[in-house]
Amino acid sequence: MKIRIAGVVGESVVDGPGIRTVVFAQGCPRACIGCHNPETLDPAGGRDMEDIEILRLIEKTKLVKGVTFSGGEPFMQAGAFARLGKKAREKGLDIITYTGYTWEELLEIGKEDPAVRELLEISDYLVDGPFMESRKDLTLAFRGSANQRIINVRESLQKGDVVTADFA
Ligand code: SF4
Repeated sequence: MKIRIAGVVGESVVDGPGIRTVVFAQGCPRACIGCHNPETLDPAGGRDMEDIEILRLIEKTKLVKGVTFSGGEPFMQAGAFARLGKKAREKGLDIITYTGYTWEELLEIGKEDPAVRELLEISDYLVDGPFMESRKDLTLAFRGSANQRIINVRESLQKGDVVTADFA
């Protein structure tokens, strides 16, 4: 299955704990002032890549702990990212998904769109919400602004309420 990507970074230590492969989705419906990746916003930009090729890149990364989906907006291609995430999990890797949507918005959208629910459920952690210049905080680990939360997805779904986590 093809995924529209802005790029793949084989080894990152700034997109979640441990060494991670980061897949940057191409396309985002928002235009946050101060967006850290403005080149990823145009859905017509970037390039297509087969998920199997991305998986090969992930497998090549030594000591990789997990995979981070960033963007752009991974939930714009929820089905393709969920499928890739499932394959990565089968290899024992954890999944962190960054999104401009809030947890609450995704739960609502997921009622109508099973792929959105699937990508949510395949993620171990969700870093949610748009970047807000007014709440920018350089001291935060793995986030740009204070409104963004690191959410433990499984615990939150079990509890029926947001359970936040701390990677720092
Ligand atoms: S949601 Fe993220 S990628 Fe999209 S415009 Fe905002 S900061 Fe940029």
